[in-house]
Amino acid sequence: MPETVTTHASMRALTEDADRAYELDRQHVFHSWSAQELINPLVITRAEGSYVWDGQGRKLLDFTSQLVYTNLGHGHPRIVEAIQEQAAALCTVAPQYANGTRSEAARLIASHTPGDLNRVFFTNGGADANEHAIRMARLHTGKHKVLSTYRSYHGGTQLAINVTGDPRRWPNDTGSTGNVHFFGPFLYRSPFHSTTEQEERERALDHLEQVIALEGPSTIAAVILESIPGTAGIMIPPPGYLRGVRELCDKHGIVFIADEVMSGFGRSGEWFAIEHAGVVPDLLTFAKGVNSGYVPLGGVAISDAIFQSFAKRPYPGGLTYSGHPLACAAAVASIEVMEAERIVEHSAALGEEVFGPSLRSLAERHQWIGEVRGVGAFWAIELVADRETREPLAPYGGSSPEMGAVIAATMANGVLPFANFNRIHAVPPINISAEEAGEGIRALDAAL
Ligand code: PLP
Repeated sequence: MPETVTTHASMRALTEDADRAYELDRQHVFHSWSAQELINPLVITRAEGSYVWDGQGRKLLDFTSQLVYTNLGHGHPRIVEAIQEQAAALCTVAPQYANGTRSEAARLIASHTPGDLNRVFFTNGGADANEHAIRMARLHTGKHKVLSTYRSYHGGTQLAINVTGDPRRWPNDTGSTGNVHFFGPFLYRSPFHSTTEQEERERALDHLEQVIALEGPSTIAAVILESIPGTAGIMIPPPGYLRGVRELCDKHGIVFIADEVMSGFGRSGEWFAIEHAGVVPDLLTFAKGVNSGYVPLGGVAISDAIFQSFAKRPYPGGLTYSGHPLACAAAVASIEVMEAERIVEHSAALGEEVFGPSLRSLAERHQWIGEVRGVGAFWAIELVADRETREPLAPYGGSSPEMGAVIAATMANGVLPFANFNRIHAVPPINISAEEAGEGIRALDAAL
């Protein structure tokens, strides 16, 4: 129990009192993915557009979009207003009722998803979206196994972390035989020793075909893939790979789930990253950019065929806050802003005109950069100790003093960086201006 009676005057006062925030955090908040006594969380007291302010009043350019979700930046007035208006009109309504804001959010989402993904099941975030997509695939096919790649992240809930490939699975793995991992394509560190994108595509598809054959097509419900694996390294699949996966799924009656939790809603310069490949999945999961994360929201966009599976029998699953009106109001406002301000086109142009050229020029000048890759406002800088051997600057699943130094120097230069093992990701709000993006890249340059 707290020892003192709360004396704050307002939420704004609570937010701005950095010392109190830190002290109470250390006393009462249990943080994700952390050794509780070894962390020193940065206090954020204010945020606006592409910037945040820390407890010392320092202004930092947010090159993380937090966890790659504030796609329209911080404090966007249209989204804030929509949440306030919705709170005044109808703050909450349970999922069994129809509600105009939820219906409109579903209509807008379905209008941008590819193909016949016409129905939306709402969740609270990305992990539960993937859990439900897998459940739908299992019930639809009557099969149980799920195939996913080693370098992937699908969420922190039990099934989602089991299908995840990255090291966060290691301490969480329940050893379920229903979750099978395979190698996705990644030319820079090719598991198939390929030297060209074409080789990588062909070998990765041959490999997946063999995994399917040996696991038994009659046991496999779904292949779940991030259309562009995000946290695991922003690895753009070689041309033709996702189409090949689609063909293998069709051949063997397997549901293709595209995880667009990070890559969706304009991050890659298309509404959804799978559109770069011209492929339509059976289920598409989303969260984050759907409403810039102002209120938690995720979901599954569902094909007509899978929808029909549940037209006359109940879907056995649901969540108390599914399609929460405050979250849906934020989604309606976000999508309307993205349409009106042509934010997806802006994201594509940022990739082609700003991030691509300037990060490649950084790679020419810094020995520590092994590769830069990305699209839209979705870029990874892979740091290596040795360009020839490609030895990573921090081990897979770990950290290093050198990476720590790069992160500290980037922050000292006024930029909040997204770092993962040996990589720095440049993932700012997708509506960031070219000037602000340039400012972030110069800070990285100076830090390196
Ligand atoms: N899928 C992908 C591709 C993600 O990047 C994430 C989170 O980063 C998730 C799923 C999990 O989403 P959430 O943390 O909202 O549950």
